[in-house]
Amino acid sequence: MITLFKTSMTNQAVESAKNVLVSGYVGQGGIVDEFEQSLKDVILANNVVTTNSCTSALHLALHLLGLPIGSKVLTSPLTCFATNCAIINNLLSPKWVDINDNLSLDMNDVLSKLDKETRVLMVVHWGGQPQNLEAISELQKYYEYKYKNPLYVIHDCAHAWGATYKSHFLGHYAEIMPNNFFAYSFGPVKPLCCVDGGCLVCPTEQFTSRAKLIRWYGINRNKRDDSVDEAGYKFHMNDLNASIGLANIKQSLNWVGKAQENASVLRAYCNPKVKPINSVGDCVSSYYLYTVIVDDKERFKEHMNGIEIAQPHKRNDKLKCVSYLESNLPCLDSIADKLVCIPVGWWVDDIHAIGRLVESYNV
Ligand SMILES: *Cc1c(COP(=O)(O)O)cnc(C)c1O
Repeated sequence: MITLFKTSMTNQAVESAKNVLVSGYVGQGGIVDEFEQSLKDVILANNVVTTNSCTSALHLALHLLGLPIGSKVLTSPLTCFATNCAIINNLLSPKWVDINDNLSLDMNDVLSKLDKETRVLMVVHWGGQPQNLEAISELQKYYEYKYKNPLYVIHDCAHAWGATYKSHFLGHYAEIMPNNFFAYSFGPVKPLCCVDGGCLVCPTEQFTSRAKLIRWYGINRNKRDDSVDEAGYKFHMNDLNASIGLANIKQSLNWVGKAQENASVLRAYCNPKVKPINSVGDCVSSYYLYTVIVDDKERFKEHMNGIEIAQPHKRNDKLKCVSYLESNLPCLDSIADKLVCIPVGWWVDDIHAIGRLVESYNV
């Protein structure tokens, strides 16, 4: 079976982890700083704060905003539930926004749901396909002009390690687009794997220094005294996870490159019956997921014998714990049952064979 996901681990990472394990210190130390520096170098951003997961990074970003309880957050129902747990667990109120047939946020629906009480927009770059950052910037300017308040945007980049907008990593725009935060995941099946880990790219130095306190109970690790101004969390990364990330980071970019190559080969085999998501101008997807729309998912799965075909994240608006939320999402309703992903990761060595199977699907 060719699987949809696989843990990406270099031999060097195994060695590095072993060294940390026997070193006598596995907590947050110098290796976390080193990993943070290499993330800054790759993302081209100054304000990078590592965390123990992307879920923590998303939670941390919302915490940093210090919004009143119940503030409205516009968000996508098509994502890992982590995105929306972060809203609920910060005691904020999620409001679903529909997607378009490109699986990006429907900006018209965003506009129609945007009001004075809305303080945050969560943006999910599904499958690693970047959304139009310029349109998001314009929306923020419009909001700020109309309501004299910033509209914060938190980007869930868990799928988007290696994805670029105008040739730069998405997190690079944290210092360019005011009030935008970018959260990455380095979890078990993400292309940059720390076993578990994540990072938050903050828009300013002030947010960054606060984030570094909040990720460790609110305590300043460099100057431990009684001056804890704000209670925090246990969200920090340790040297063991950092050593794995540090050893994998260079190769992770080659792995993303391989997925991108595979995706471009596969695209040529697709047809109106197996319809891929369009790429958008100025954007290069990381192809963490290669998502297609098919009319009969079950038949397509049967046809793709030996290849794992699945839709990894179920639509969040149907989950029981959020059934109290209004969910009028016509576009999502029309495609939710037709979405599936085809493996294109570095472990797929004969993408043409998968392509020929796709091509011969004729239902
Ligand atoms: C994996 C994932 C997360 C959570 O990442 P963790 O590092 O496992 O917490 C969040 N959002 C999306 C879209 C994901 O795929």
